Amino acid sequence: MTKSHDLFQAAQKHIPGGVNSPVRAFKGVGGDPIFIERAQGAYMYDADGKRYIDYVGSWGPMIAGHAHPEVIAAVREAALNGLSFGAPTELEIQLADRVCELVPSMEMVRMTSSGTEATMSAIRLARGFTGRDKILKFEGCYHGHGDSLLVKAGSGALTLGEPNSPGVPVSLAEHTLTVSYNDLEQVKDVFSQVGNEIACIIVEPVAGNMNCVPPAPGFLEGLRSVCDEYGALLIFDEVMTGFRVALGCAQAYYGIKPDLTTLGKVIGGGMPVGAFGGRRQVMEFLSPLGPVYQAGTLSGNPIAMTAGLKTLEILSAPGFHEDLTAKTETLVSGILGEAKKAGIPMAANQVGGMFGLFFTDQPAVTNFHQVGQCDVARFGKFFHLMLDRGVYLAPSAFEAGFLSSSHSAQDLEATIKAAADAFKALA
Ligand code: PMP
Repeated sequence: MTKSHDLFQAAQKHIPGGVNSPVRAFKGVGGDPIFIERAQGAYMYDADGKRYIDYVGSWGPMIAGHAHPEVIAAVREAALNGLSFGAPTELEIQLADRVCELVPSMEMVRMTSSGTEATMSAIRLARGFTGRDKILKFEGCYHGHGDSLLVKAGSGALTLGEPNSPGVPVSLAEHTLTVSYNDLEQVKDVFSQVGNEIACIIVEPVAGNMNCVPPAPGFLEGLRSVCDEYGALLIFDEVMTGFRVALGCAQAYYGIKPDLTTLGKVIGGGMPVGAFGGRRQVMEFLSPLGPVYQAGTLSGNPIAMTAGLKTLEILSAPGFHEDLTAKTETLVSGILGEAKKAGIPMAANQVGGMFGLFFTDQPAVTNFHQVGQCDVARFGKFFHLMLDRGVYLAPSAFEAGFLSSSHSAQDLEATIKAAADAFKALA
């Protein structure tokens, strides 16, 4: 038996399911989760000392690789000055200025401690600003676990929200309208019925929580114009895509200006950070300037700001995103090539440093319904074959994969070779 197995047994005594975030429990793929002891660059090492090439990257933040020496040095130095003050610091100004410089739609920004807080607060702000209660989101998009956002619709152009988690009051969930990703006609239809009651559309500009699904041409543009027509705010949830698909985030990549943006993951460089920001006029509605309340004991934490600033500095180097994109392309085309050789039907999506692999004979995967038609059981087998071969993929068929700048050509080669072996075993 492995040490990970023993730790998982021990963990379940006092931690529900043995984990502090559900997908870590390997429910989607079966088997015991791997307990991690340390990580460096592109590699994670488990409690049994086994090394993995990591394509999860702590679910996105580790874009510069694990334990990047410059990030660690900066954090060490900052820690000597104290861990938290609950009072303003210059570091917060530096990170806010940098974010607003890189993402011009963000004229002001407020830090939080997680992506969930960022989206929850952005929704409250949109509701407060517009004086409207309804929000519109897309099936298969995840925006953290705030009550209003844990809603997934059934089919239908106008679907009143059904909570998909017990504990979310129906009276709240019914304000969340959910339509199919990449289906602009459905959006227009909903707006033609209740558009004047909708505070905002919230969207992942590249969906990364139903595996990886890029926006169809014209989709984001269409959302922008629907929002303009009805006076609703457009919120880009860039918690995942922010600073990952491009230096200016997905909004720069696609050339669309949202009213509000939420950030997380990369902006904290591995520390607990989220942020939301946007048009000055909207952000000034926030307390203490305006009436919409939002706060946080650890918001703007000096260690977290330091890790974020250093990470943004690293990824601002010329060519950083071009390299990351090229590496991701190499990986995805290599894996697709091996699947083809082995006669395994597979499709893939990729934007910048994020990617998705689908066990499907559909030529393209563009929405949640199609994602749902992929062979999840086969993914589970593939996941374990790769894990055995020292490659750590997200333990779910519904999560995007992430590369870091520290993945080397040899790492990619080794991964493609592992996939070739895995496909042989699957075929
Ligand atoms: N929005 C998106 C797009 C996300 O991917 C996530 C997390 N995966 C969140 C929000 C929530 O962030 P957190 O887990 O930091 O609360």
